[in-house]
Amino acid sequence: MIMPSLEQEIKETHMGAPHIVILGAGASLAACPKGDKEGNPLPLMNNLISILNLKKILNDYKIDYSSNNFEEIYSNICEDYKHAELVTIIENRVKNYFARLSLPNYPTIYDHLVLSLRNKDVIATFNWDPFLYTAWRRNFKIASLPHILHLHGSIAMGYCPKDRMKGYLYGRCSKCGERYVPSQLLFPIKKKNYTDNVFISSEWETLKNCLKHAYILTIFGYSAPASDIEAISLMKEGWGPAPNRSLEEIEIIDIKSSPILAEAWKDFICSHHYRTTNNFYNSYITQHPRRTCEAMWSSLMMCDPYNDNYIPKNFTFEELYKWYDPLIKAEIKKT
Ligand SMILES: [Zn+2]
Repeated sequence: MIMPSLEQEIKETHMGAPHIVILGAGASLAACPKGDKEGNPLPLMNNLISILNLKKILNDYKIDYSSNNFEEIYSNICEDYKHAELVTIIENRVKNYFARLSLPNYPTIYDHLVLSLRNKDVIATFNWDPFLYTAWRRNFKIASLPHILHLHGSIAMGYCPKDRMKGYLYGRCSKCGERYVPSQLLFPIKKKNYTDNVFISSEWETLKNCLKHAYILTIFGYSAPASDIEAISLMKEGWGPAPNRSLEEIEIIDIKSSPILAEAWKDFICSHHYRTTNNFYNSYITQHPRRTCEAMWSSLMMCDPYNDNYIPKNFTFEELYKWYDPLIKAEIKKT
């Protein structure tokens, strides 16, 4: 028996404003806490040196890595022209490691995430791993899925510089038929240049434009590192000054405490328009899948909150698709 409120939620698809989700390394770790399909651990910036076995090579080149901060150490190495060879070695190690990673065969956070948003929505990731693309690719036949953006490039993505098309690295441009060029991975140097590369600058342009119209912004496992001033400044440019976003809502999914997160994102948050959770499966995305903006609007603007409609976490793909079916069918009916 469908409760009236759920029936109503399923029917409601009127919101055109996007829900934007920003993913950082914490999201991939949350998706694969015990490692990827083969058990390869998912690194964060503060354990990347040890997970990628970079200690020996850093010792060979007499580099001090006691801070364990990959961003800082890599930046320092880049600034010293004597270390050009080491820079190449490190970059190749990183590329090879992330190219090896693959999602487990069962539904993961990434699958639940792409299936819980619609094609008006956007997921932008800072992660080099292929997870977002894999999840998108293995679910896109089921429903219209959100647009995906790779803000630092991805090991899975390629592009055609001539036609400005993008797709799976081993695919071909649908306009000229040429093989895609691998997207550049943007490494954590202090001054990143997001406009240098056609692929990356186009991803950022899209994100900035979408942020202007967003109704909900979710930040998942992205700690906004102090060294990435340009990323934050581009996001601010898109979102605009916080006081102008008095209707919009921000959700932060992160293991840090709520006051710390509120402080870190204060330039984006208007007054009390934010919520935090340390678990993706408690987030608004999983509470109102494919209807996040409608449910938020009904709750905050119409004072008529929908009942929760949490996604079943442990379903197989087949069971999951059946579960999403009424939501997807209602969307098709409206178009
Ligand atoms: Zn082309």
